[in-house]
Order: sequence, then C-alpha cells, then structure tokens
Amino acid sequence: MRKVKYVILGAGTSGLTALGMIRKQTDDFVIINGGPLGTTCARVGCMPSKAMIQSANTFYNRSKLNEFGISGGESLEVNTEQVLQRVRRLRDRFTKGVQAGSTDGLSEENFIDGYAKFIGLNLLEVNGQQIQAERIIIATGSRPVVPGPWQVLGDKLLTSDEIFELETLPKRIAIVGLGIIGLELGQALSRLGVEVVGIEMQHTVGGLASPKAIDKAIELFSKEFAIHLGAAAQLETTESGVLVKFGDKSFEVDAVLASLGRRPNIDLLDIEKTGVTLNQRGMPNFDINTMQIDDTTMFIAGDVNAYRPILHEASHEGKIATLNAMNYPEIKSFARKTSLGVAFTDPDIGFFGANYRDLDLDEVVVTDFNLEKNNGRAIVMAEDHGVICLFGDKASRKLIGGEIVMPHAEHITHLLGWAVEQQMTVLDIIKMPFYHPVLEEAVKAALYQLYSQLYSKEERGIEAELTLLK
Ligand SMILES: Cc1cc2nc3c(=O)[nH]c(=O)nc-3n(C[C@H](O)[C@H](O)[C@H](O)COP(=O)(O)OP(=O)(O)OC[C@H]3O[C@@H](n4cnc5c(N)ncnc54)[C@H](O)[C@@H]3O)c2cc1C
Repeated sequence: MRKVKYVILGAGTSGLTALGMIRKQTDDFVIINGGPLGTTCARVGCMPSKAMIQSANTFYNRSKLNEFGISGGESLEVNTEQVLQRVRRLRDRFTKGVQAGSTDGLSEENFIDGYAKFIGLNLLEVNGQQIQAERIIIATGSRPVVPGPWQVLGDKLLTSDEIFELETLPKRIAIVGLGIIGLELGQALSRLGVEVVGIEMQHTVGGLASPKAIDKAIELFSKEFAIHLGAAAQLETTESGVLVKFGDKSFEVDAVLASLGRRPNIDLLDIEKTGVTLNQRGMPNFDINTMQIDDTTMFIAGDVNAYRPILHEASHEGKIATLNAMNYPEIKSFARKTSLGVAFTDPDIGFFGANYRDLDLDEVVVTDFNLEKNNGRAIVMAEDHGVICLFGDKASRKLIGGEIVMPHAEHITHLLGWAVEQQMTVLDIIKMPFYHPVLEEAVKAALYQLYSQLYSKEERGIEAELTLLK
C-alpha cells in the first residue's frame, strides 16, 4: 500500500487550487482525476457557454441595427457550424492553458488518471491500487442531473456535457429546466436560429426569487422564445424526434437539453466507508468556514459540496480546504465572501448578498426600480429594459443584497456586491460619485428609493442633504 501525506481528489478548479498550494510545499502528494482534464469550467462549463453566447448575441444585434439608422442587418447570416467550431477552438485553448499551468509535467508518482473510491478512513483505491493519505481534499465536482428514464432518448438527449460537441445545431430543441444554465443556453440557441421551447417546473427563471425580478425576466425572455412554467415535462421518443408533453400541451422537437441542475459527485466515492455520517442527501457534515468534514483530516471543496456551485467559490474553497489540510491539526475558520452570481443572458441577471428566499420581510425593505424609459444611457443604447431589486436592512440601514435583471448587470452586480462586502449603509453608497450618463444612474435611483424607505422624512431633511455633500 502506498502512503502519502496529501491526496487531492479531482483536478478541477478546486483541486488545481489545492495542487498549486501543496506542490510549493512538498512532493509528498498525489492528485487523482477521473475523466478528461481541463476543468469543468474550461471544458464544458463557463467558457464554452460564454463563447456560444457571444456568437449568439453578436448575430442577434443585427435585429437592432435599424434602430440606429443602419440597414441591411436582416440579410446577415450565421453559420452555426462555424460558431460551434469556434466554441471548441476556444475551449481547447482554455483547457490547454489550464493543463499547462497545472497537471502537465506531473510525474506518475504525483498524478493518477482514474476514479478513486474510499475503502476506509483515509484509505482510497484507484485503478486497483490502495493509497493511504494523511490528509485528503475532496474536489470531485458535479455532473448534470439526467432522469434515468430519459436515457432512452439516446443522442436526442443532450446536457451541457454534449451540446458544445455538436457539429450542427438541431432545428428545434426543448430546454427542460430554466435555471441559469438552461436560460443562458436557451436564449443563445434561440438567437442562433434554433426554435426553442423552455420548460420549467418552478414559477421562475434563471434562479430568481424576488417577485418583480421574476416577472421582468419572464416578460423579457419570453419575447424571444416560448417559456412554459409550473409543470414537469414528460418526454417520449417519436420516429422523427422527441414528443415533449407539458400539462395539456405537447410539441415535437429534434433534441432535448436537460438542464435540471447538477448533482455533486459525492455519491460515487463510497464515502460512507470512512465512517462519517451522511445526511439524507448523502452529504457528509462539513463546515463552510473551514471545509473540514466533521473532525477528520478530510476537506471538501467546490461543486462536490453543493454549497455555492460556481467557479470563484470552488477556487476560494479549495484555498480554505488546503490551508487547513496543510496546517492540521490547527484548523482556522475563514469568513466567506459576499455571495455573487451572474447569468450571462441578455439582459444579464445578477444576484448579490442575501438570497431573497432567506429574507425576513418584517426586517428588510425590498425596493424595485424599472429601467424602462428611466435611464438615459439605456435609452441611447436601445436597451432600456430591466429591473433592479434591492434589499435593505431596516435596523442597520445596510444594503444586504439584491437581484438585478438589466443590461451589463455583470458589472453592476460586482459594484453592489462589493458595497455589501464593505457593509455599507445605503447612505454610504449614495454618497459615492455617479457619472452621467451611465447605467449606474439607474442604480443610484434604486438606492435613493431604498433610502427613502429606510430613513424617515426628518432624517432625509436638509441636514442629511448636507452630509451627502461631505
Ligand atoms: C454550462 C455551465 C456553465 C457554467 N457557467 C459558469 C459561469 O459562468 N460562472 C461560474 O462561476 N460558474 C459557472 N459554472 C460552474 C463552474 O463550472 C463550476 O462551479 C466549477 O467548474 C466547479 O469546479 P470544481 O473544481 O468543483 O469541479 P470540476 O471542475 O468539475 O472538477 C472535478 C474533477 O473531479 C473529477 N472526478 C469526479 N469524480 C472523481 C473521482 N471519484 N476520482 C477522481 N476524480 C474525480 C471530475 O472528472 C473533474 O475532473 C458553469 C457550469 C456549467 C456546467
């Protein structure tokens, strides 16, 4: 049996963060990765999806050209085969870059290609070899959820793992699940000329939770492709495609994209053999500030723990897990950063800070500001649509979170997320400079609205106006 100080399970974003830190300190480690290298983000996630979205949006912009006095846009064509080739070309560039800076050049001692499983506490098996590790970082990521019965659809059933591999796009597609991934890809495919039908069991899209943001998103996205909410899709194969049944409706498509969420790759690890207790969902107990599982020398980071399954969190958790693995038995608790999320739709959807679902509406003011005809820059850009929903804490008067559906929300989400991270009150933020004419003026208007709801009239009197000048 081989003995090592560190085992890293998974060479994704989280595992590679761990690798980068551990290899600086010691050679006494092994990183084990099952499946293709290059990370989910670069291979089948963030990067190929954004490459496809970029082509789709660039082509879609032809439909706005008349508004700007430019004619001929209607005659532009898209070559979707070339779009897909570009997606893969960029993907290869990104995955090669990731590998060059991480696993390339690792010796056989330090890298094992294979799926590992636990056979005991701190004891793993991979490719028939047993490895005992003093400290283990579990970073095995997640995979798309695909209901078992849907497998009969064969190659007509796609997930984000397959869609970027297509040589040509289907003519008609059903997107089942309109969370962030489904909404991003559904809109992109629609803009590339695919007839898209989106189906979502919940009465929301893009993971939104605040009512005004949900309404606005549904209003805007359903202008581009059919969106059906509130019931599950039933799928049947037909001779020419797939019959999608939804409530009392049905329609035929050539392919289905299952975007029902992602399942953490914890279930295939036999982690119960380590003796740790698992909850009903098969997850071990772990601390989100230390990433430690119970009081073991196992740490769990990235999508596999299902806490915040997005890239920068996978990387951050990889750091926390590795620092604690390296310093064990001294375990340090690290504060988590303000939550941020972006759907790269058009308009973007942004989330920052507190989740609307967790708000106590007796303690929090929720305000919404509509962009329609209310922001000069958005009007000039012909993108005057969207809504900014902000959450302000009544007691502290701090901005604590929000949901935004608006053009370039990816940037606005950062600004407001940073303000939450800095624990700024609404007054602190409106004291900041705002240029003109910019989209941030819509944020300013939303903040002033929140200001008037959180502060009394007296508090907003001339004295307060003077403090704003300071
Ligand atoms: C379509 C799509 C779009 C996305 N867009 C964004 C975005 O815009 N922004 C964003 O922040 N996030 C985005 N994400 C999410 C982001 O990609 C993930 O949060 C991130 O890649 C997770 O990294 P990770 O290290 O946890 O896992 P991964 O990168 O998945 O790495 C896990 C590795 O472990 C391997 N493995 C699994 N089981 C075993 C085993 N038993 N033994 C050894 N190895 C194993 C896997 O094969 C994999 O190589 C997107 C995801 C998808 C699918």
